[in-house]
Amino acid sequence: HPSIPFAAPDGRGSGSVPNNMDAFWMPFTANRQFKKAPRLFVGAKDMHYTTDDGRQVLDGTAGLWCVNAGHCRPEIVKAVQDQVAAMDYAPAFQMGHPGAFELAAQLSALLPTGMDKVFFTNSGSESVDTALKVALAYHRARGEGTRTRFIGRERGYHGVGFGGISVGGIVTNRKFFGPMLAGVDHLPHTHDKAHQAFTQGQPEWGAHLADDLERIVALHDASTIAAVIVEPVAGSTGVLLPPKGYLEKLRAICDRHGILLIFDEVITGFGRLGTPFATDYFGVVPDIITAAKGLTNATVPMGAVFFKNAIYDAFMTGPENAIELFHGYTYSGHPLATAAGLATLKIYKEEGLLTRGADLAAYWQEAAHSLRGLPHVIDVRNLGLIAGIELEPIAGKPTARAFEAFLRAFDKGLLIRTTGDIIALSPPLIIEKDHIDQIFGILADILRDLP
Ligand code: PMP
Repeated sequence: HPSIPFAAPDGRGSGSVPNNMDAFWMPFTANRQFKKAPRLFVGAKDMHYTTDDGRQVLDGTAGLWCVNAGHCRPEIVKAVQDQVAAMDYAPAFQMGHPGAFELAAQLSALLPTGMDKVFFTNSGSESVDTALKVALAYHRARGEGTRTRFIGRERGYHGVGFGGISVGGIVTNRKFFGPMLAGVDHLPHTHDKAHQAFTQGQPEWGAHLADDLERIVALHDASTIAAVIVEPVAGSTGVLLPPKGYLEKLRAICDRHGILLIFDEVITGFGRLGTPFATDYFGVVPDIITAAKGLTNATVPMGAVFFKNAIYDAFMTGPENAIELFHGYTYSGHPLATAAGLATLKIYKEEGLLTRGADLAAYWQEAAHSLRGLPHVIDVRNLGLIAGIELEPIAGKPTARAFEAFLRAFDKGLLIRTTGDIIALSPPLIIEKDHIDQIFGILADILRDLP
């Protein structure tokens, strides 16, 4: 497909408009706008993408919070190449291949004590669906089949399956799609600018918001509630941090009422907070953890769900020749994904990447908060190697200001992500201090003359 070179009137996009743009219905994208001035990447290495017109773009978001070890790591590339040449695919129903068992074993060693069971999926959305379904089946297996309700949270993002949008709390992701899963309530989200603006790290204010769980439990009776699901740090709705003591309270209330607690760690898993998982950072252990993204460094799609042993054991009670769980995917534990996962874990271990965020967090925090005082900046929040910069919306044009910042950053060779009027940053964990300086230096320049 030849390209039509273009100079977009506003200089946007990465160079040219190929003539094959029409067919691909792009996800979560303004298709018509994008296809007039596309931004196309053709290469990636470590901290940078290369655009189709040969420019380097510093990756401030690790792709979509997923390329934690940096791009195109040769060890991962080789592991995938070797695996695809040796065995392309093997089913995981009633048979297996060694890589899936080894990856699960290595993952269980990273997880909290007593949480050793790993179910493989292909994405974060599938991990969430799996967690919710297993929660229902678990209660039923124990003779508590009345526990069918779920409790999510406003502004929560749990992927795009029907289960995930039902427990999720992002209005635009829900309102077009009908009645969804029955029996779901939502806790309030934990963000309040009046009490929390420009907090460094976890806010002091807001632990009491967890008490709303008691209200919901009282309303429906604990015997009807299967699980509570939250992101320990909500990423996709613009970096909402758990107030100090909040997750502890959720844990205590769930324990009191026999409710399972699910942490959706699709973003926070694999070192994002400077610990292997957010459960380690916060010292609060859920019953189920969902993961994806950093698991394979995003080289091959893969998700996983981690279960406390007691949950798995509840299914292992019937006749030994009976299938215990009627759930799974054609590609559960796909050989290419497990090869990528094993190579990724090796890099994480050898380079200390799962704790590198802890070493850089103070530097990152200071750099992020240096944006305070620049025009339009109404909040900066951060934890580990995550930052959210909230801009005052343009009256009547929500999202326009942050999207303009995104376009200008791209022009200046920096990839950021925006959600609403919030800029979210989550770089690869191999980031060096001079990259951090570049990210916030470019952002400061942009903010100084953003309309
Ligand atoms: N849960 C959380 C917390 C996420 O951030 C995401 C993706 N950003 C998902 C689930 C869904 O993952 P996927 O896009 O791989 O389905």
